[in-house]
Amino acid sequence: MTDGPIVIENAHVAPVRGPEIAGGHVVVEGDRITAVGAGPAPVTGAARRIDASGCLVTPGLVNTHHHLYQWATQGLFQDATLFDWLTGLYDTWAGIDAEVVYDAATAGLGWLALGGCTTTTDHHYVFPRGRGDLFDAEIRAARELHVRFHPTRGSMDRGRSAGGLPPDEIVEDREEILVATEAAIDAHHDPSFSSMLRVAVAPCSPFSVSEELMSEAAALARRKGVRLHTHLAETLDEEEHCREQFGCTPGEYMEKLGWLGPDVWFAHCVHLHDADIRRFAATGTGTAHCPTSNGRLGSGVARVSELLAAGAPVGLGVDGTASSELTSLAGEMHQALLFQRAVRGPAALTARQALELGTLGGAACLGRQDEIGTLEPGKLADLAVWRVDGYRAAVEDPVCALVFGPTPPLDLLLVGGRTVVEHGELRTTTADPAQAGVRARRRLIGDRT
Ligand SMILES: [Zn+2]
Repeated sequence: MTDGPIVIENAHVAPVRGPEIAGGHVVVEGDRITAVGAGPAPVTGAARRIDASGCLVTPGLVNTHHHLYQWATQGLFQDATLFDWLTGLYDTWAGIDAEVVYDAATAGLGWLALGGCTTTTDHHYVFPRGRGDLFDAEIRAARELHVRFHPTRGSMDRGRSAGGLPPDEIVEDREEILVATEAAIDAHHDPSFSSMLRVAVAPCSPFSVSEELMSEAAALARRKGVRLHTHLAETLDEEEHCREQFGCTPGEYMEKLGWLGPDVWFAHCVHLHDADIRRFAATGTGTAHCPTSNGRLGSGVARVSELLAAGAPVGLGVDGTASSELTSLAGEMHQALLFQRAVRGPAALTARQALELGTLGGAACLGRQDEIGTLEPGKLADLAVWRVDGYRAAVEDPVCALVFGPTPPLDLLLVGGRTVVEHGELRTTTADPAQAGVRARRRLIGDRT
């Protein structure tokens, strides 16, 4: 179901690829963009004509890293490092079930859509026994909201007794993980052009996964033709752990395990060495940059401008809300710009580069740069219409107004031509995502704060 032919006119159109158009139009038919150009749209008989005066039209934002279940544990361990934060939260996360995951996903996905996001991944890696089908629970939430979803089947098999960070109680058996991951791909993965759902394989991190599982997960992903994802080089603690356990840096470890390539994207990559940047660029390995989470946990600043200069794919991620609270993906564009400039000077990242990270760069990380990430005829009609008038009219450049300051109001969000957000309200669901989030938190941790 779509809303039929839609004409958006009188907007500042930022297609991301190709020149921007002041006073331009975008035409949507079915689930595709059919025209982008200057002046009024050459279309008669449109089902819907939208006068987007005072608005900026961009591609829908693409979120390349998330943990939706973490909605239920926001605001905890406020001053901890990543390893202390994880160690503090693992026992609580061991209590999740399908209801918590469904409600947390409903809240998290709704929040993302209200912030202009049309495609999102999720990295779910906590699967306590006997708690229902957690992977299916988040997929149900995404289908109901109608966002393009790339859930990744995460996993952990190296508990404390084997030198890993998580408690033994929440890790799974390696063989069970591989069987469950393949079953998730078979049940849900849709490789078609306009796919609303693609599954990736995502063992959690070098400090919670065995070398054997890392290798076998890569073999499974390549046999099934799906993508690979994990956390990498997030903190200096992780680098120390890898040197102690594996005798090499995180980047070298991934290369040794066959984990570099155009079908791989890593979350964070804060502490990369020069050789890693060269290898990522040469192999087309992607990075999900999560500046808010990196700042919140004091992890450091990723070398984004250097990755871009080397030609490596880079997208943005909100990471879980337990380490970024309510930061939206548009907020991550803002943070990415500030972080790079704070460390590397005012020319380190432009507003348009930040917008590209949040759109086409993310699409490239997910292997969907031919389908989404820009406004071009033939691409999927995933787009965001932002209000940049009112207070924001004082900034003459609409892309600057989107990225430099607080996130502007979202007037319209289309996913595959269907209206998901209109005038700042969700249109695809009658559920209240905020209430769902409260339910998830109460069920998991009660009223304690
Ligand atoms: Zn993460």
